[in-house]
Formats: sequence, C-alpha cells, structure tokens
Amino acid sequence: MQTTFDYVVSGAGYAGCVLARRLSDAGKSVLLLEIGSSDKSWIIRMPAGLRSAFKPTSKYNWWYYTKAQQHLNHRTIEQPRGRVLGGSSSINGMTWLRGHPLDFDRWQHEGVSGWDWAINY
Ligand SMILES: Cc1cc2nc3c(=O)[nH]c(=O)nc-3n(C[C@H](O)[C@H](O)[C@H](O)COP(=O)(O)OP(=O)(O)OC[C@H]3O[C@@H](n4cnc5c(N)ncnc54)[C@H](O)[C@@H]3O)c2cc1C
Repeated sequence: MQTTFDYVVSGAGYAGCVLARRLSDAGKSVLLLEIGSSDKSWIIRMPAGLRSAFKPTSKYNWWYYTKAQQHLNHRTIEQPRGRVLGGSSSINGMTWLRGHPLDFDRWQHEGVSGWDWAINY
C-alpha cells in the first residue's frame, strides 16, 4: 500500500474532489480523506430518499445549527452539511447550476490556467 503522497486533501466534497482530480490529472499522487461514509446508498442516489438525510439521526449530515439569530426572534436554524463522499453535494437535492462563461474566462484571464469556459464545457 502506498504510504507517501505528493498531496493530502482533507474532505471529499465539491472542493476536495475537484482539487484531487486536478492534481491527479497533473500526475501528482493524492490522498483524499473523507470522514463521512460511502455515498452508495438509495438515500443519496434516489431523489425521494433525500428526506432521510435530513433527519437528526442521519449519518450523512453534520446537522449543524446556526447561532441564535437576532432577526429571527433569536431562534437557531438548521444548517445541513454533507458528511459523506461528495460532501454537501451528495445531499443537496441533485440540483445544479452551470456556471457563467464570463466567470470561467475571467478566472483564466486572472491567471488560473485550465479554467476557461472552452476547456471545461
Ligand atoms: C441542503 C443543501 C442544498 C444545497 N443546494 C444547492 C444547489 O441547489 N445548488 C448548488 O450549487 N449548491 C447547493 N448547495 C451547496 C453546495 O452543496 C455546497 O456549496 C458545496 O457542496 C460546498 O462544497 P465544499 O467542498 O466547500 O464542502 P462540502 O461539499 O460540504 O464538503 C466538505 C467535506 O469535508 C468533509 N470533512 C469535514 N471535516 C473533515 C475532516 N476533519 N476530515 C475529513 N473530511 C472532513 C465533510 O464530511 C464533507 O464531505 C446545497 C447545500 C446543502 C447542504
């Protein structure tokens, strides 16, 4: 088993997975660590199953709360975050938005090579 890596990425959510993939594509060895469990579950894969990820007992959800909110009569509000491979994207209802081409091209223009719209889409 490989025990040394060029990079260790903590958290296999959106950011961690993209980062690990980009580094791997660049020929680097990467250890991607995720504290949550596998996403191979009907709760994650089937849209109607998602309600189960929003129970306080769900292992797929960190089940955070906000601080008491002054402008909400000092109530605390549930703040779900994914604790599973895929992170919050695994419990975000499978909806997604394609980014705006101008944002991608601006990032490329500002020096983030490989992020321009033409390459990614
Ligand atoms: C209910 C809900 C609905 C959403 N709806 C949408 C939507 O419709 N469209 C949209 O674009 N976005 C949506 N989002 C937001 C989107 O899912 C998040 O912005 C995105 O997933 C954040 O990515 P991230 O990589 O920053 O964090 P996350 O995806 O949350 O990933 C963080 C990962 O790190 C792991 N982790 C934490 N601590 C450790 C540790 N110590 N060691 C190892 N691993 C650790 C976590 O378990 C998690 O898997 C939604 C989010 C939620 C919660």
